[in-house]
Amino acid sequence: MANVSSQPPKWRGQDSAVYTGVFDPFHLGHLDIVKRGSRLYDRLVVGVGTNPEKKPFMLVEQRVQLIQKVVAPYPNVEVRPFTNLAVRFVREMGARIMLRGLRTLSDMENEFTMSLTNLSLDSEIETVFLMAREEYSHISSTLIRKIASFEGDLDKFVPPEVKAAILAHIREEGEKK
Ligand code: ADP
Repeated sequence: MANVSSQPPKWRGQDSAVYTGVFDPFHLGHLDIVKRGSRLYDRLVVGVGTNPEKKPFMLVEQRVQLIQKVVAPYPNVEVRPFTNLAVRFVREMGARIMLRGLRTLSDMENEFTMSLTNLSLDSEIETVFLMAREEYSHISSTLIRKIASFEGDLDKFVPPEVKAAILAHIREEGEKK
């Protein structure tokens, strides 16, 4: 006789996902992926990483605090820093899914390489991609840092909390000079 069990299926981490990135700074494109991801999974962790090859625009602690403020309306979203391998961090969070956003063909190339590398580092962690919404597909952290350095208007690119933090950061940096 077939083994019909009333037990729920063994938990395999599909109810959680981890959206990894550097988020330096966090912008409206990132926020859109968080919103959509929070509807797909019961729990979404935003993993804020560091790029060891680059001096950050904002410190990781500052980025985490800022993203926490921005995502406060989404109760199933949490924000944590990580310094180890992304796949390890995903596992530590009890998840099996790494969420990423895709904007352009050039993103595709990098993300393809990254996801294959991650798969060979840990074959149980899958990367799931969400296509960027058209209105955000041109936004990148690099672009925002550039606009900010020329004191351009950031309203259409970042949430108000991030805009305020960027302006304060630029003021502080200016005072140091
Ligand atoms: P990375 O982690 O690749 O250094 P980011 O921290 O900027 O880059 O981005 C984190 C994730 O968010 C990546 O998967 C990236 O493709 C995605 N992303 C970046 N900008 C956008 C956007 N405008 N719309 C949707 N996804 C985006």
